[in-house]
Amino acid sequence: MKKIVTVLGARPQFIKAAVLSRIIKEMSEIEEIIIHTGQHFDENMSDVFFQEMQIPKPKYNLNVNNLSHGAMTGRMLEEIEKTLVKENPDAVVVYGDTNSTLAGVLAAKKLHIKTVHIEAGLRSFNMKMPEEVNRILTDRISDLLSCPTQTAVNNLKLEGYDNLSAIVEKHGDIMKDAVDFYSDFSSEKSSIISNLNLTRSNFVLATIHRQENTNDSKKLNAIFNALDNIYLKKPVILPLHPRTKEKLKEYKVKTKVKLIDPVGYFDMLELLKNCSLVITDSGGLQKESYFNKKPCVVLREETEWSELVNYGYATLVGSNTKKIIQSFSDFSLTQTDFSRDLYGSNVGEKIYNSILSLIEA
Ligand code: UDP
Repeated sequence: MKKIVTVLGARPQFIKAAVLSRIIKEMSEIEEIIIHTGQHFDENMSDVFFQEMQIPKPKYNLNVNNLSHGAMTGRMLEEIEKTLVKENPDAVVVYGDTNSTLAGVLAAKKLHIKTVHIEAGLRSFNMKMPEEVNRILTDRISDLLSCPTQTAVNNLKLEGYDNLSAIVEKHGDIMKDAVDFYSDFSSEKSSIISNLNLTRSNFVLATIHRQENTNDSKKLNAIFNALDNIYLKKPVILPLHPRTKEKLKEYKVKTKVKLIDPVGYFDMLELLKNCSLVITDSGGLQKESYFNKKPCVVLREETEWSELVNYGYATLVGSNTKKIIQSFSDFSLTQTDFSRDLYGSNVGEKIYNSILSLIEA
């Protein structure tokens, strides 16, 4: 039986990996070994996703976290290399743009193991973002690049990938499959809406975790000023990322919005289904807003998911207090038509088939 190693470590990767792991298990043609780098490790940032989404238990847990980018990537690289030598897989699969992604693909490539990058070709064109650096480097040393959008394919073409030996394919966005598959489970299992006393279509869901916002006290204050203003009109629920929690304390930012601990995927889906609007700097949540037919105010200056902005499903406001409030008002006054299909479906199956062809070649 062929064998792949999946390297993951951060919350959005658990959600994406859940889709493919389920297909791999069902097909029984490939053995999957999971390495969890430990980048996210709390119960509510990691374990809950493995339980709810029934992701197979990682065979290896590297416990690498709370370090600077260089130290974190370096330690992961060393540990992943050792593990890959031991497991000798036919391919290594990585997701997204975190330090775990880069460490996984780099360790594999130097051992001449085939590499697969899921969510390839995304670009923010902002090289100050650690995620952008991770993406570009990961793409360059991957053998199979699974792109979520035509924009992602075009980005790679512009970088000259037509002249390289890598396989570039457009499969769609694997997070769409996650929403489609787990939506019934969340309706059944989550009671977050009643627990928080929320009224359907009458609250705003917000998340903030990107370094460019959290590590700048001016920006963080400006964002929370806007959220406090919006809160006067509608309840704002904000599941708080550990980094943001730490920074709010450090910068002594006070807020009236309802801060809650990070939630599991089922609770998140119910919050998404029932809210009226999303305000976020998350990559994944921008699309999940669209999948759940909710407009999204993006607390960034640019996005890798440019089609959402081009078609009017999302708006880019950075950390500008006035723009955040204005976008909230604008979206509240208009009815958005979400009938356009931007990200495909049955994406996991397409990725699975491509991986199978790669390792059987
Ligand atoms: N998410 C979650 N609970 C939370 C916050 C986010 O389940 O409290 C999910 C969210 O629905 C999305 C993913 O985590 O699927 C996004 O992760 P994050 O925003 O941390 O990372 P990004 O997508 O920006 O890389």
